[in-house]
Amino acid sequence: MDPDTPAFDSPLFDTARAEAWIRAVAAAVDEEQSRLTELDSAIGDGDHGSNLHRGFTAVLAALDGLHPTGPGAVLTRTGTTLVSKVGGASGPLYGKAFRAIGAALPEPATPADVAEALSAGLDAVRLLGKAEPGDKTIVDAWTPALAAFRAAAAGGATLAEAAAAAADAADRGARDTVPLRARKGRASYLGERSIGHQDPGATSTALVFRALADTTA
Ligand code: ADP
Ligand code: MG
Repeated sequence: MDPDTPAFDSPLFDTARAEAWIRAVAAAVDEEQSRLTELDSAIGDGDHGSNLHRGFTAVLAALDGLHPTGPGAVLTRTGTTLVSKVGGASGPLYGKAFRAIGAALPEPATPADVAEALSAGLDAVRLLGKAEPGDKTIVDAWTPALAAFRAAAAGGATLAEAAAAAADAADRGARDTVPLRARKGRASYLGERSIGHQDPGATSTALVFRALADTTA
């Protein structure tokens, strides 16, 4: 490898990092379960924390028995497990997103490869859920996170730098859902009454990106 390329000094996204990322998401979901549930109690049916907790508990068990052939295999198994174990809207949405990320990831992946995989993940969410930015969903955290990751990677950032920028953007995106009126999912049934609350799914997406930043740092 050319020693002048940024990838020479910064680790690439490999199987171990993929597994560390997903285990960190599971730990964050475990820690934040009651907060996610409280947010979903305000504008939904109060099960977002338990939905994701059930899903990621099953993911951890699935990873324990997996001998992955690359980072993509880790993400694909994560997605398949979420689709099969989580009944709420978020199960199929995150499940398809992680499967799409898995299908797009080469072994090992550069920051630009990871950006493209995260973009495939967002495409999967949007294809299934048909949400636009501003509809108060997962899309409102993932879209700015992807933009930040992509811009950082295009500017020669390391994986850790790109992921940190994405995590900060996802946090802002989640906070920026507070004044929005929900137009998709259960919260949309509340109409105007969904205004003034942070979206649970955008909040869990911020956890996903923070976990990526923490495990690539
Ligand atoms: P459910 O709404 O079935 O109870 P969850 O509570 O687990 O499922 O997940 C709710 C979250 O799912 C919402 O906060 C929102 O962010 C996300 N969501 C719902 N519908 C969509 C959609 N069509 N596109 C993207 N995200 C969505
Ligand atoms: Mg719910």
